[in-house]
Amino acid sequence: MGCQLSAVGGIQDLKSEIDQPLTPVDVVYELTRAYGPRSWFPRYDSMSDLIFTGLSQNPADVNSARAYESLMAHFEDWESMRQAEPERIAQSIQAGGLARVKAPRIKSILGAIYGELGGYDLSFLAELPLDEAKRWLLRLPGVGPKTAACVLCFALGRPALPVDTHVYRVARRLGLITPRTTPEEAHADLEQRLPPELVYSFHMNLIDHGRQVCHARRPRCEACVLSTRCPSSLAAAQASPAPDAQVC
Ligand code: SF4
Repeated sequence: MGCQLSAVGGIQDLKSEIDQPLTPVDVVYELTRAYGPRSWFPRYDSMSDLIFTGLSQNPADVNSARAYESLMAHFEDWESMRQAEPERIAQSIQAGGLARVKAPRIKSILGAIYGELGGYDLSFLAELPLDEAKRWLLRLPGVGPKTAACVLCFALGRPALPVDTHVYRVARRLGLITPRTTPEEAHADLEQRLPPELVYSFHMNLIDHGRQVCHARRPRCEACVLSTRCPSSLAAAQASPAPDAQVC
């Protein structure tokens, strides 16, 4: 059973008790003061980032990084990977888990891209209007809003917001999205309330905050720079006798 703050209306009701409810822009500024400014740099080229993101459950997943490196070492180029048997791809990504699920997906993505472009250069996505670039990626097999946003943000520096488990959890607790907002909906919902130049910082800051302070099980509200304006912290302070159980 979910915690009380998961109930629809809980956080929204408490937001009205806070003088100045936080906006996504406020959160960027407050967390930038805590964690320092962010400088974007390309993680991989866009084709490589698409495959890397498909292999990783989260960007800090060491096993996924090892699987990606092994995959790239096993194949000379994208074309040889596309033509390989799924079994051979699966062997090369075993370190990352779910290899038999991911291998055919990689082949399908490569096949779809080759079928459409006759090659594997996705750099044109940097020039398309953002919505069009997203739609192009979302047509690929197995590509959802998070993967599309990761490629556009991390490889191309576009203002697309990836919403992973940390971003989603922290944004919900802060009341930036409603308890009804799904992770898929949260991408566009939050992204459109941020100026383009703050999208990357918002993502990186919420990831760090989720890892360091706003933990999934026991958020460290007492150490949080946002606690005086966080409806979840307020709920925990009002609740008794088990505040930890109220913040989820
Ligand atoms: S006050 Fe607590 S629940 Fe709110 S963002 Fe900070 S750590 Fe998370």
